[in-house]
Amino acid sequence: KLDFAGKLAQKLGVPVKEETVHAVDEVSLTVNKGEVVGLVGESGCGKSTLGRMVAGIMPATSGEIRWHGRELGSLSGADARQAQLQTQMIFQNPYASLNPRMRVADIVGEAPLVHGLTRRGEYDTYVDDQLRRAGLDPSLKRRYPHQFSGGQRQRIGIARALAVQPEFIVCDEAVAALDVSIQAQILNLFLDLRRELNLTYLFISHDLGVVEHLSDRVVIMYLGRVVEEAAAEEVFRNANHPYTQALLDEVPRIEVRKKHFAGIKGEIPSPLNPPSGCHFHPRCPHAFDRCKIERPALREIAPGHRSACHLNDRS
Ligand code: SF4
Ligand code: MG
Repeated sequence: KLDFAGKLAQKLGVPVKEETVHAVDEVSLTVNKGEVVGLVGESGCGKSTLGRMVAGIMPATSGEIRWHGRELGSLSGADARQAQLQTQMIFQNPYASLNPRMRVADIVGEAPLVHGLTRRGEYDTYVDDQLRRAGLDPSLKRRYPHQFSGGQRQRIGIARALAVQPEFIVCDEAVAALDVSIQAQILNLFLDLRRELNLTYLFISHDLGVVEHLSDRVVIMYLGRVVEEAAAEEVFRNANHPYTQALLDEVPRIEVRKKHFAGIKGEIPSPLNPPSGCHFHPRCPHAFDRCKIERPALREIAPGHRSACHLNDRS
């Protein structure tokens, strides 16, 4: 069990002008080994912040992140390096993180060489293997990033991540910038790699439709809080939270779904000054007096299914 983020990040304070944004507020998230967890919400809901904290590239101002049961911040030396290498992050725009002056072979091979995961004598084979795994033709490895398409660049980013032999990959909108047909290819690649390498993923997306393809469990965030969490089928068949229901209505689907309401009215409020009580109340079609005053607790409403909505107290 990769019990990191047992009690993740109570209140991450990011100073913005003289105010503090709690991008992530009392969130607890566990990702088990071999699992794919989809983390979904609109932009500004704190999911990228949470992903960065989980990946260990952004500190939390309070709370803790546990990796194989050990507090990430307490690790040092080889243990810290190991944890850092074994968690890799894949972003929306791989181009921004690919050095334009480096050949693909070096982009992929540099870190494993530095960390002793391969040696000079077997370097070429090692790099070729990573490229092949990511679905790239190794004969292109002398080329530079600009000579590749968006989808291929994402594959270069994936090959680079795989090259350090991670066990956990945090994908932040990893397919959001790609055409729909390429998205499907990359999502299938993630699934194949999961099987082949027994990978664990935290898959962050604003798009529930994307997450549906590959998640075992789905966590829905709204303005820094988790509002619903359940097995993927449960979320798609039996969403409880009005926000999740609204997100589902925005997913283009072939089957006809009972509409709760069309789309989500209103803009997402500023995280600088979130609404009182239930953060979703100004946009919720079911809001009642209590919603403006009292924050709904995230409660188990069925085995493994948690939701934070006062409506669950009414029935
Ligand atoms: Fe809507 Fe109230 Fe439930 Fe919030 S607590 S989602 S405002 S019904
Ligand atoms: Mg983001």
